[in-house]
Amino acid sequence: MTRAPGERLLFTPGPLTTDRRTRDAMMVDRGSRDDDFIAITARVRRRLVDLAGVSSSHTCVPIQGSGTFAVEATLRTLVPREGSIAVLVDGAYGARMAEIARTIGRRVVAWEVGETDPIRPQELADLLACDPSITHVGLVHCETSTGRLHDLDALLDAAGDRAVIVDAMSSFGAIALDAGRCDAIVASANKCLEGAPGLAYALVRTSALERARGNAGSIVLDLEDQWRAMERTGQWRFTPPTHVVAALDAALDLHAREGGVAARRSRYAESQRALVLGMRELGFRTVLPESEQSPIIVAFDEPTEGAFSFERFHRALREDGFVIYPGKLTKRASFRIGCIGAIDRSDIEALLASVARARQSV
Ligand SMILES: *Cc1c(COP(=O)(O)O)cnc(C)c1O
Repeated sequence: MTRAPGERLLFTPGPLTTDRRTRDAMMVDRGSRDDDFIAITARVRRRLVDLAGVSSSHTCVPIQGSGTFAVEATLRTLVPREGSIAVLVDGAYGARMAEIARTIGRRVVAWEVGETDPIRPQELADLLACDPSITHVGLVHCETSTGRLHDLDALLDAAGDRAVIVDAMSSFGAIALDAGRCDAIVASANKCLEGAPGLAYALVRTSALERARGNAGSIVLDLEDQWRAMERTGQWRFTPPTHVVAALDAALDLHAREGGVAARRSRYAESQRALVLGMRELGFRTVLPESEQSPIIVAFDEPTEGAFSFERFHRALREDGFVIYPGKLTKRASFRIGCIGAIDRSDIEALLASVARARQSV
């Protein structure tokens, strides 16, 4: 990892720490119609479908904005207005997907599971069997609020012949998934691919996109229209985030050089193990048992003994140059430390030293 002295490290689910080479790629201004920018857009789109192993069946539709913009655009585009979607809700991101679908007027059947309760795919199969009008299933791959990694294969089995839309925002590029079985995989530039924030994308089954004309009910959040325009002209419909697209291209170089999805997963997993071990030694407890914990982000319970204040804890770490994240659980006080981004085990060790100091003072 290439890093400037005094740089801040972000142990968060995004924006997250990027490599200096990725940021350097943003130092050139390009016009949206420039040949070199059109080539970068085409290359990034191709590399993303290649990464998912679906270059013959799916196409990559990038969209300006954060990850949620792509989730909404995908739901609008793929779920017809008379369609309905069953959504697994076991945390804040599943809840957000359900809320988006509801807000845009699609019928939603929420499959609610407690944040730390076991997930039984058979419940999904039963729910779908009882309600043949459900056309789609919405799943979050890694529920970033708890850090829980879902067993996507088992859930896809349970979804049967329904079209599945996966929010793989916090896992894509670090955890392999069977994209060919999904109608759409939604992710963003600034999670495990370690690009800059401001760009998201969906890898969509081309045959599903071909049938989606007019579904969106939105001009900007219409993946079908974005796709047709891009196929026709190579250009984005509206001002593209040129610097961010170039940064993602550079970040994909680094991803390939590191060894692809498996290598990235190992780096994150090594960080995550060191983090959990070190935090346990300092008296912290994880929200999830080991078996459900992803290598992406770890949720810790706030200590109950002594007077713990997340605000002061966060500020103390921040003064040492480390940024951690508040919790997002509904029923218990927690905070989160991310293992994704251009950080490795040695950065985790430095963070742990700072946590030990902060724990003395807060
Ligand atoms: C980060 C994330 C998102 C998108 O959040 P934005 O703030 O819009 O980038 C969506 N789903 C999951 C699971 C995430 O981790």
